[in-house]
Amino acid sequence: MNVKTSPRAAAPRRRAADSRLDPDLVEDLVAANRTLARLGVLDAFGHISARDPRDPHRYLISRSIAPESATAADILVLDLDSQIVRPQDEGKLLYRERFIHGEIYKARPDVNAVVHSHSPTVVPFTVTRAKLRPLLHNAGFLGLGVPLFEIRKHAGDGTDLMILTPNLGKDLARKLGKEAAVVLMRGHGDSVVGPTLPNAVFRAYYTEINARQQLAAITIGGPINFMTRAEALTSNDAMLRASARPWALWRKRALAAC
Ligand code: MN
Repeated sequence: MNVKTSPRAAAPRRRAADSRLDPDLVEDLVAANRTLARLGVLDAFGHISARDPRDPHRYLISRSIAPESATAADILVLDLDSQIVRPQDEGKLLYRERFIHGEIYKARPDVNAVVHSHSPTVVPFTVTRAKLRPLLHNAGFLGLGVPLFEIRKHAGDGTDLMILTPNLGKDLARKLGKEAAVVLMRGHGDSVVGPTLPNAVFRAYYTEINARQQLAAITIGGPINFMTRAEALTSNDAMLRASARPWALWRKRALAAC
């Protein structure tokens, strides 16, 4: 009889483990999706994930839908190979570029949230010689470096520019490196990382804002007085603390609209 009872006993334990998804984190992730859509960083495409604080080898991300319409029921769990781990997630449509997230989490233990977007004003900086550099103090994190991923170097000509395989995810994570907060993706967008979900949302937003302001500065003409590396790094430290304030506002707005 023990043989029969033990599988039955195991099943509720597995369900209990699944139900331990932190409801606050799920709500944060929903708020992050809606916020970055409202702020014009994400359109119908793009995605945000958060590492599971209860199991660093897994992450939470929406099923493949437009981020603006994400709800708690859409959040699923993937392992760092970006495969589902829960029976209830079987058959759900997954983001095709999810390998961006899993491979960055593998390469960067300091990263607990990832935003991949087609941030519109950032894209011109991926296809020209103009380097995206920090000029706005909120964007001091750009001083950590802004590497550019050229997919042709890794997959040759003729791709759709998307990160559709684990190997391309690894290549992208390698280009991001050990320190940068942003990796640009040529003709595509960017991937932004942070130590917390609010900070990654903040950084994704201010990457777009800095790009808009840099474009405006280029239009005005003349040399641009960018932040120095020392200023950028000091600002980054300050903004790691300060990102809680806009996050509280954004989260409240996003969840009120649910
Ligand atoms: Mn994409």
